[in-house]
Amino acid sequence: MLELTAGQISMGLVAADKASALRLLAELLEGDGLVAPGYLAGLEAREAQGSTFLGQGIAIPHGTPQTRDLVITTGVRLMQFPDGVDWGGGQIVYLAIGIAARSDEHLRLLQVLTRALGEADLGSELRRAETPDDILKLLQSAPQELALDDQLIGLGVPVEDYDELVLQGGRLLRRAECVGGSFAAALLQGEPLPLGDGLWWLHSDQAVQRPGLAYLTPEKPLRYLGQPLNGLFCLASLGDAHLALLERLCALLIEGRGRELARATQRRAVLEALGGEVQPDWPSLRLVLANAHGLHARPAKELVQLAKSFDGEIRLRVADSAVAAVSAKSLSKLLGLGVRRGQVIELLAEPAIADAALPALKAAIEQGLGEEVEPLPTADAAVSQELCETPPPTAPAAGSQLQAVPAAPGIAVGPAHIHLCKEFDYPLRGESPDVERERLQQAIGQVRVDIEGLVLRSEAKAIRDIFITHLEMLADPELGDDVDARLKQGESAAAAWMAVVESAATQQEGLHDALLAERAADLRDIGRRVLAQLCGVQEAPEPAEPYILVMDEMAPSDVARLDRNRVAGILTARGGATSHSAIVARALGIPALVGAGAGVLLLEPRTPVLLDGQRGRLVVCPDEGQLQRAHQEQESRQRRLQLADTHKLEPALTRDGHRVEICANLGDSAGAAKAVAQGAEGVGLLRTEFIFMSLPQAPDLATQETEYRRVFDALDGRPLVARTLDVGGDKPLPYWPVVEEENPFLGVRGVRLTLQRPQLMETQLRALMQASQGRPLRIMFPMVGTVDEWRQARDMALKVAAEIPQADLQLGIMVEVPSAALIASVLAREVDFFSIGTNDLTQYCLAIDRGHPTLSAQADGLHPAVLQLIDLTVRAAHAEGKWVGVCGELAGDPLAVPLLVGLGVDELSLSAGGIAEVKARVREFSLSAARELAQDALALESAAAVRELAERF
Ligand code: PEP
Ligand code: MG
Repeated sequence: MLELTAGQISMGLVAADKASALRLLAELLEGDGLVAPGYLAGLEAREAQGSTFLGQGIAIPHGTPQTRDLVITTGVRLMQFPDGVDWGGGQIVYLAIGIAARSDEHLRLLQVLTRALGEADLGSELRRAETPDDILKLLQSAPQELALDDQLIGLGVPVEDYDELVLQGGRLLRRAECVGGSFAAALLQGEPLPLGDGLWWLHSDQAVQRPGLAYLTPEKPLRYLGQPLNGLFCLASLGDAHLALLERLCALLIEGRGRELARATQRRAVLEALGGEVQPDWPSLRLVLANAHGLHARPAKELVQLAKSFDGEIRLRVADSAVAAVSAKSLSKLLGLGVRRGQVIELLAEPAIADAALPALKAAIEQGLGEEVEPLPTADAAVSQELCETPPPTAPAAGSQLQAVPAAPGIAVGPAHIHLCKEFDYPLRGESPDVERERLQQAIGQVRVDIEGLVLRSEAKAIRDIFITHLEMLADPELGDDVDARLKQGESAAAAWMAVVESAATQQEGLHDALLAERAADLRDIGRRVLAQLCGVQEAPEPAEPYILVMDEMAPSDVARLDRNRVAGILTARGGATSHSAIVARALGIPALVGAGAGVLLLEPRTPVLLDGQRGRLVVCPDEGQLQRAHQEQESRQRRLQLADTHKLEPALTRDGHRVEICANLGDSAGAAKAVAQGAEGVGLLRTEFIFMSLPQAPDLATQETEYRRVFDALDGRPLVARTLDVGGDKPLPYWPVVEEENPFLGVRGVRLTLQRPQLMETQLRALMQASQGRPLRIMFPMVGTVDEWRQARDMALKVAAEIPQADLQLGIMVEVPSAALIASVLAREVDFFSIGTNDLTQYCLAIDRGHPTLSAQADGLHPAVLQLIDLTVRAAHAEGKWVGVCGELAGDPLAVPLLVGLGVDELSLSAGGIAEVKARVREFSLSAARELAQDALALESAAAVRELAERF
C-alpha cells in the first residue's frame, strides 16, 4: 500500500505551466527509478483525457493504462509549487502528487487525500508550507468524520456483565472497520465514566483506524460498580471527530433525555437523537464496478457530474460493507470509499428521482464513466483462469483407489451423496413486483412440499424437529413483509429473498445465543433451498439407503447434526484428522475419511463407494471382489474388536507385565457411564468447553456442579481429569464474545483466556471441587506455555481448594505448546502431572493449522519432532516422579500406541469407542521392544518413515 512520507516531497519548485510541471514530475519519477523513460507521454495523455485537478490546490497527475507497463515500482512523488501552476481553466495547483501505479494500489492514498480536501483553506496552507513535514501534517491531519450508524447500535444485547457489553461494543466497532483487533482489550482496561440514568461512557484511542461510536444497551438490567448499567457508549477515538457528538449528548443529558437512550428499542430513534447516520429507505440497485483502477478520481468526477444533474439526493456505498452510503455528488466522499474493480456497489436515490436517476447512473457506470473498461471475468472465465494455474480436479474413475486421511475408523459402503454449497447466479432486478412475488411463492411452495416429505420420512425425532422448524421459518410473516418491501423497490425475487434471509441470519448470529446461532444456520439452509428453486437448480435428493456423505469440508456442528442411521460414512475433500469435526465423527462412530481432494466432489451422485476409515482408503465403484474383501475385513475387524471387547474391562498390560492406564476422552457428562462400560479406567480428558457449548448460555455454578457430579458418579471412584475451559482457536463460544483475532490459534485461547476472566475460572474450579466430594479429581489447564501461566492458574485452584478441602486432588497442565515441552524440567518440579495434547502440540510444532483445509493432512503426530517433544516431557516428568498421559488423537491410533508406551507414557486417553482395541494392542508387545522401537523412531527423518517402522513392529 502506498504511504506518504517526507522523503517523497520536493519543496519550493517552480514551473511556468502545466507542461513544464509534468516534465519535472516525469524526470523525478524516472530519476528515482519508479518509472521507465516514456512515462511523460502517459502523464500528458492522461491530462488530455481530463484534468487531474482534485481541488484545494492539489492535482494528482498519473499515467494511462497504456503506460502502466512503464511503472517499475509503484510509488508517489509530491512537488510543491508555492507560486502555483495553472492546471487549466484557471485552476491553480500548489501541490502536484505524481502517482506511478500499476493497478489500484493508490486508491487508499486517494482516500487519505480526499479527507484533506474537506479542509477550509487547504490550498493556501499548502502554498505557505515550508517543510515536507508541514505538507504531511496538512494532508494527514484532516479530521475524519465520526462513524455512527445503524450497525454501530446494539439494543437489548444478551450479555451477562459489563465486560461482555464492552467486548460487544469493540466487536461492533471492529465490524465497522473502525478499529483493529487489540482495541477491545484496550477498551476493557479503560475506566468508564458514569453519565447518569445508567448510561456509561468508555473510550480508547488504541488501534483506531477511523473514529467511531458504538452504543449498546443490555437485554436485562445490569449493574456495574454498584450503579445501574442501562447503556454504554464505546468511543474509538481519533482526533476531535467526536466533539460535536459529545456536545449533543451533553445537551441531551441536560435536557433530561438520558432515559430515552437507556430505554430505546429502535436504532433509528437513537441515531436521530445522537445525530448519527440514518440509512434512507430509498429505492436502490446494485452493480459491479469494472474500472481497472477502481473508482479513482476521473470516473468519480464523471459520476459526480451525472449525479449533480438530478435534483435530489443520490448515495452510493460498497454493498454489504461496514461503511455508510455517501453522497454521490461529493467527489471527496466518493473517493473516500476507495471502491476497487470487482466490488459490488449499491446506489440509492430519493424516491422522487429514483426512476430516472438509477438507470442513468447504472448505464454510465457500466459504460466505464469515461474510461474504457474490460468486462469482469464471468464465473466461467474465473474458473478457467484458476484452472490454468492448478490442474483441474477430475472425478476419480470407476475402480480407482484414493488415499486420504483416516479420520474415524471403520468400513462403510454406500452411494455417494454429494452435498455442495453451490454458487447461484441470479439477476438483481426483477421484472415486476407481481411477477417476482408469484415466482417466490411458487418456489416457497415447492420447498414446503419437499420439507413436508422429509418430515414424514425422518425417523429420528431430533431430525424431524429440525425440518418442522424449517417449515415454520418458511411461513414467518416478518420475512415475508421484508421481502415484499424489497420486491416493491424492483428487486428480483431471488435478490430480495436472499438479502432478507442473510440479514436475518446475521442478526441472529450477532445475538450470541447458541440456539439462535443454530437458527441462523437453519435460516440459511432454507434460504438456499428456496434460491435453488428460483434458479431452477436441482439439489440431489437424499438416497433412501444409508449413504456416504461427500462434502468439501465439515464443521463440528455439521457432523453433530447428522442422522447416524442415514449416514454410513463421511468423505471430505479437505480437512485433517485432528480437526474437531474429525473428533466428533470418531465420537459418533461414523467411519470418516478427510482431505481426499476436490475430485471427490465431482463424483456422480449415487456412485457406489467403499470407504476404509482405518487405512485412509477410498474405492470408487468397488467390484465384487473388493466388496467381498471389504466385508471380510469388516468381519475380521469385527471379530478382533469382539475379542478385544471381551477383555475390555481388564487392565492393559504389556507382555512383560508393564501396566498402561487407559482412559476416556469425554465431551459431555452423559458419556461417562458408557465409557466405563467400554473399559475406561477413568476420564483422562473432560473437554469441559463442549459442555459449555451445548448450552444456550454460560452454565452457572449449580449447573456445572450437576454436570461434573454426574461424571464423578458414573466413574465410581475412578479418577477424573478435567480440563478447564479451552475456548478460543476453532472453538468459540457463541454467547461469550471474544476479541476477533487474525490467528485465533495463536491468540487468546485456553488458559490465556480464562486467566483474563478469573471469575469464570473460579466458578468452574469451585463447581469441580464441590462435585468431587472426596473422589479423585485431577485438574489440568490447557495451552500453558509459561511457568507464570501455570502458577497463576495453580494459585487460583489452591485458593478454591483451601475453601473446599479435597481428599485427592492433583493439579497439572496439558503439554500442547512446544515451549511447555521444552521447559518441562522446570514445570515438572511444580506440577502433579502432564497430559500431552498431541493435536495442538503437533500443529504448533509443525506450524500447520490442525484444521487447515489442505495442509492438516501432513500434521502427523508421529513426526520425529513431535516425538522428541514427547520424549523430553516424559523424561522430565519421570525425573521428578510425576506421571504423563497423552490425550490427543494419537493415543487412539493403534500404530502410535507402542511408540507412546515405548517413550514411557503412563496413561493413554482416547475416544471411549477405541479403548478395547487400544488395550488389546498394548497386550501384543513387550515394554522392552516398544522402548527400542521408540528410540529408533526418534532418529528417523519423517512421519512417513516412523509410520513405516511402526507398521513393521
Ligand atoms: C490436544 O490438543 O491434543 C487436545 C487433546 O486438546 P483439543 O483437541 O481439545 O484441543
Ligand atoms: Mg488442545
